[in-house]
Amino acid sequence: MPSRTHPLHIPALVRIKPGALDRTGVYLARAGHRRVVLLVSTGLQPALAQRLEASLAREGISLIAREEVDEASFEQATALFARVPGGCEAIIGFGGGRALDVAKYVAFLAGLPYLAVPTSLSNDGFCSPQSSLTQGGRRRSLRAAMPSGVVVDTDVCLRAPDPLWWSGVGDLVAKVTAIADWKLAFHARGTPVNDFAALLSDATVFQFMARPVRDLEGVRLLATSLMLNGIAMEVSGSSRPASGSEHLLSHALDTLASRPRPHGLQVGVATYVVSRLQGQGTERVASVLEATGFWRGITADPLSRREWLEAVRLAPTLKEDFYTVLSSRDCTPEVEDVLRTDPQLRGCFVD
Ligand SMILES: [Zn+2]
Repeated sequence: MPSRTHPLHIPALVRIKPGALDRTGVYLARAGHRRVVLLVSTGLQPALAQRLEASLAREGISLIAREEVDEASFEQATALFARVPGGCEAIIGFGGGRALDVAKYVAFLAGLPYLAVPTSLSNDGFCSPQSSLTQGGRRRSLRAAMPSGVVVDTDVCLRAPDPLWWSGVGDLVAKVTAIADWKLAFHARGTPVNDFAALLSDATVFQFMARPVRDLEGVRLLATSLMLNGIAMEVSGSSRPASGSEHLLSHALDTLASRPRPHGLQVGVATYVVSRLQGQGTERVASVLEATGFWRGITADPLSRREWLEAVRLAPTLKEDFYTVLSSRDCTPEVEDVLRTDPQLRGCFVD
């Protein structure tokens, strides 16, 4: 039985509801944090930042530094870490996925409590133990600390642009194929599976699937599901519950595509394709993608069939000791056939 080598960190504060943004100050005050640093996405609507800052002011919490984050890089994270003033008691990450990945890493370096306040749900990174950052221009997943608190204002996230919603849905359905790959890896290579993490991950997709609607309740379900997936990663000490061959395909596209698409959009399409290779989960994935309008986000800007086939060849070489369906055989001819003939993918690919 695999054993964990580090203590389990799980956010103690979780607020997922409309208006939660305006209560951020209350949550920090309750936790005893009086001096905080805010790391915010460049280009975030000023009205949202004003609401967060007003909520801190109402509780007498001092904002001892406020920095903008414009790129998710290791270099930016370390530069920001060097500027964290002494006496800082907590770091707040506010905005989109990039700013939150950086803020999480800064808090990890500083050894400080971290509060994640996403304004969209484009991936599961707002509550996961890793930060996806570039280092010297190459994207890497770096070990970081889980947030100590997660504040999701569902009303704010509901108003985020369509592609961010689809992207979050794509990153969630990925769990269907990630868990199947984990089990394949167990049978082929003896990769240990943490059953509880696999169960948790699987259960989250079912929760959202039961009601894949874009309204306040749908946003709440998506946020909860993505958060529990991050926790499944922390529980297993591995990215396996959240990421399998569909993520490898997306990483391959990030390196070879002329114009990579947002993470969750690539991952969502890859999940559907990979489910066909695995011979499992296809209907489940298709029903969520259809119900959420996900395919509209793809057909509006179709993908390159040539680049995707190249990605299928590259993907299994990207991560050492990470067996997936793509390592089981040369999948290129099957994928070529799926991309050309599967009715779900009509209009998604061009030559
Ligand atoms: Zn992902």
